[in-house]
Amino acid sequence: MQIGTSGHTVIIGAGVIGAAIGQSLVSRGQSVTVVERGLIAAKPGASGASAALLEPLAGAHPELRDTAQRALARLPGLCRDLLADTGIDPQWSRPGSMVLASRERDATWLRTFRMPMFHEIGEPVEWLTGHQARVIEPAIGSHVVGALRIPSTQSVHAPGYVRALIADVTRRGGVVLAETVVTGFRRDGLTVRAVVTSVGEILCDRVVIACGAWSGQVASLLGNDVPAVPISPQRGQILAIAPTGGAPRVSHVLHGAGGYAVPKPNGTVLVGATHDNVGFDQSLTPEGFRFLGTLAHDLVPGIADEPVRHVWAGFRPIWEGSGPPPVGPLPGTENVIIAAGHGAIGLTVSAGVGEVVADLVTGR
Ligand SMILES: Cc1cc2nc3c(=O)[nH]c(=O)nc-3n(C[C@H](O)[C@H](O)[C@H](O)COP(=O)(O)OP(=O)(O)OC[C@H]3O[C@@H](n4cnc5c(N)ncnc54)[C@H](O)[C@@H]3O)c2cc1C
Repeated sequence: MQIGTSGHTVIIGAGVIGAAIGQSLVSRGQSVTVVERGLIAAKPGASGASAALLEPLAGAHPELRDTAQRALARLPGLCRDLLADTGIDPQWSRPGSMVLASRERDATWLRTFRMPMFHEIGEPVEWLTGHQARVIEPAIGSHVVGALRIPSTQSVHAPGYVRALIADVTRRGGVVLAETVVTGFRRDGLTVRAVVTSVGEILCDRVVIACGAWSGQVASLLGNDVPAVPISPQRGQILAIAPTGGAPRVSHVLHGAGGYAVPKPNGTVLVGATHDNVGFDQSLTPEGFRFLGTLAHDLVPGIADEPVRHVWAGFRPIWEGSGPPPVGPLPGTENVIIAAGHGAIGLTVSAGVGEVVADLVTGR
């Protein structure tokens, strides 16, 4: 593998992973073209659909956990700079989160096993009784017996964050081609010389495949001699509640009842999400509505009767291989990097994945 440290990088996919990689590369003076099939941050790409809660990955695979910590450390300053430099607001905030326990045995498990995982990575957490949790979050139910509070949990507005990253790529001299489909590659042995798109060929010194759930399809365009990339789509349906004046305010990200509630600065609360293994079917379904309604009722009963503003779906990229999702050289090629398959945590790790790929390209 000769990734090389000079020349032009073509990034395929402008979801949060491709956008973050592009931003990290142009920040280091690299020449970049980002090619995106749709509009920036459009659904059903996962990034435009994301709840964008960004929590330390305590207990995860060490590589993933460390990439997340790198991302989370970078995010406040990055979002501040993106707003100042591009005028697009990623709506960064640090609401903190609570993992709610509705049974004593869940509370015991959280205190005995989950809390030490956060301590291990230096993340302060605290235990709240059910009463203390309800004082802070009056929208939760009377059945909650305790809560693990993680003060460092962050949040952004996913489409705004992606658009700001992409705007920064162009501001720093990168090229972004939206509504441009990658249809193939021109190869010279194991080396890709050009990316073939719906508007013509783009010469390149290296390629980054960051196509989320479509990464396996795009990698297969390299040819049969490149091993298959086992990434599959998983549909996530999610809704936004817009509480009216009299409803209790949700201020923390809340986990429980098989899902989460994520408060946003505009006052909405996102409740999600389903995990539907139905291929690339982007339908919203009655079964999805049932799941989301039950989740809202169990997790935030205080706002479960408030108006639903919006329901949508996107495709999480699920890595079916062993180990953490791939971020690095694609086997069977000389100058292709893959960065995909981050499932339900792609927003969380994105700013770290950008730096990992930029380290690889710049030889740091
Ligand atoms: C409902 C839901 C809620 C979520 N909540 C969270 C959360 O709270 N926190 C968190 O960290 N993560 C969350 N996730 C996961 C996160 O959204 C994903 O892991 C992340 O967005 C993946 O980013 P990506 O760039 O790899 O993929 P995508 O965002 O899917 O981007 C891939 C891009 O590649 C483009 N593409 C595909 N084929 C081609 C081609 N041939 N040519 C050009 N372009 C192409 C697509 O159009 C797409 O824009 C959530 C996901 C969903 C669905």
